[in-house]
Amino acid sequence: MFMKIKHGVFKWVTNKGTHVSYSTHQAWEDLKPNYPIIPWHHVIWFPQANPKHAFIMWLVIKERLTTQDKLKQWYPNKSYSCDLCGTIEDSIRHLFFECNYSKQVWKEVKRYLIWRGLPNNVFSIVDLLAKSTQRNKIWGVINRITLAATVYHIWQERNSRIFKGRKRGEMEIANCIIADIQLKLTTFVVKFSSGIQLALMKWSMELDGNRLKIRN
Ligand SMILES: [Zn+2]
Repeated sequence: MFMKIKHGVFKWVTNKGTHVSYSTHQAWEDLKPNYPIIPWHHVIWFPQANPKHAFIMWLVIKERLTTQDKLKQWYPNKSYSCDLCGTIEDSIRHLFFECNYSKQVWKEVKRYLIWRGLPNNVFSIVDLLAKSTQRNKIWGVINRITLAATVYHIWQERNSRIFKGRKRGEMEIANCIIADIQLKLTTFVVKFSSGIQLALMKWSMELDGNRLKIRN
């Protein structure tokens, strides 16, 4: 993809290495950015996503959260320990699944899902969700909003302990996550199906016309 003189004539060398006469079309084909399709895009950004939750999920996937494993590279002499469990330094992997605090939160939240064998790693979950063909089905949406809400609330709790000195227990956080998701579900317009029926049962909700309503 550059100009080369061959037999006194400028030739365009394509990405495949062939020499052709220069044309704008060929140059565009060779020079256009070849960005990979981001397979996880739909796991994070979708119509029912909460923008605040989606933003934190995006930072997680891009590994841009300022966790202690990163801080340690800049300030290696400080000592670090996870603010949720008080053991090792925090990192994305530790905070969202390996941490005992987060494990307890997930244990509660998982009761509301029908996902057997949910991986214990945020990146593996994203990977599975990205490959899912059930994206637009009710459980495809619930799985994604649950992952984002859980990650968001765990991150909020971690920050609230650091910056506000305020601590909440695992159950309190799990209840916040569940309440957040139930509230989101009330905005859905649905058609009855076996998936919806299961969602109503799991999330203690009922149908009100074509809307989901929290059961009293
Ligand atoms: Zn921890």
